[in-house]
Amino acid sequence: MNFENNLTFAKAQDEADILKDFRNQFLFPNQNGKEFIYLCGNSLGLQPKVSSEVLKRQLDNWANHAVEGWFEGKEPWMFYHKELKKLMAPIVGASPREVCPMNTLTVNLHLLMVSFYQPKGKRFKIIMEGGAFPSDQYAIESQVRFHGFDPKEAIIEVFPIEGEETLRTEDIVAKIEENGDEIALVLFGGINYYTGQWYGMEAITKAGHKIGAMVGWDLAHAAGNVPVKLHDWDVDFACWCSYKYQNSGPGGISGIFVHEKHFSNTKLNRFAGWWGYQENQRFKMEKGFIPEAGADGWQISCTQVMPMALYHASLQIFEQAGFIEPLRNKSISLTNYLEFIINEVNKELGFEQYKIITPKNPKDRGAQLSIIAKDKGKEVFDGLFENYILGDWREPDVIRLSAVPLYNSFEDIYLTGEALLKVSQKILNA
Ligand SMILES: *Cc1c(COP(=O)(O)O)cnc(C)c1O
Repeated sequence: MNFENNLTFAKAQDEADILKDFRNQFLFPNQNGKEFIYLCGNSLGLQPKVSSEVLKRQLDNWANHAVEGWFEGKEPWMFYHKELKKLMAPIVGASPREVCPMNTLTVNLHLLMVSFYQPKGKRFKIIMEGGAFPSDQYAIESQVRFHGFDPKEAIIEVFPIEGEETLRTEDIVAKIEENGDEIALVLFGGINYYTGQWYGMEAITKAGHKIGAMVGWDLAHAAGNVPVKLHDWDVDFACWCSYKYQNSGPGGISGIFVHEKHFSNTKLNRFAGWWGYQENQRFKMEKGFIPEAGADGWQISCTQVMPMALYHASLQIFEQAGFIEPLRNKSISLTNYLEFIINEVNKELGFEQYKIITPKNPKDRGAQLSIIAKDKGKEVFDGLFENYILGDWREPDVIRLSAVPLYNSFEDIYLTGEALLKVSQKILNA
């Protein structure tokens, strides 16, 4: 597609967009009565308009039924999570039995490592991406310590080669092979939060299995953003938060995936709780933990109805949109357009003030572009905010912008470029 840097072009793209009306289902942040262009769905997705009604419905259930709400009403809480499982499955390419909403992301990362990081003899290492999201680094460090290892010895981080910003799949695979019989677990983020790089998940999973390791993915920046096929790719486990691309609200419920091939493995460690117990026997309250079959067997505490209700409402919007494929198609065009527009700004300025470090090929990225601002980045970022454009800022010099197909338009992108040029000219010439 040949992009054009003008409003008429952007508006024509929006007119032809089959998903264009979905943005009306969301609330945009505003100040002084003016709405922001929101390009920060990688950090916290927007609130669906239906959210307050959905919460109100559960508050009413609670008010009207109290404890009976577990079994009474239109959406009895006892089985409520099953409604979510059906809608979560197509988002990550799994069967409903393989997914479950529970807890929050880092908590689930720990719980899944309890099961799938089982060091034995010289096979005790975890391989991960260098520069992973800090919570993942801390979780992995503390897990290896918990097993009595020194993180410096037990964690292998893969960094880009000199002069490059992102990783090459073949280098990750080579590193896995090089350390083959020492690696117990391969654990990467599906999309790196800082660079926006989408790793070659299928190839990396295959490489991990070839050397006899377990393979897990943190899909915080991937779930609801790019199509993943966890079951078909034979991934062992994964988890994600739902408040980024899946719009479930701050601190929203997390999701887990456990491949069905592990369902009958009774040797996996678990940190157990009553909600993971066999569902139809749970209220016998008997001694001795027997897990429910499937991902549900990793539950610990009773259903968190309020955050699940928010996630459920948001998943229904994905269902209306046809789940991931139509969104992904629009996402690729929007992000390509954003890339084009940023480069147009560089052209106007006459030098490369903005360097996009996210890979160029759409197969290696999702919605997010990470942009190094070579000069006065923070001032540019603040200038964008003053012009009602909200992205996010990562020290020391990166602006992250994400065009989210459910609620961003080509016009948003065009206007962002226009503001970025204006702000840059003002700040760089000052
Ligand atoms: C956003 C994010 C988190 C956040 O974890 P919480 O437990 O939800 O606070 C963790 N890991 C990655 C990779 C993330 O992108």
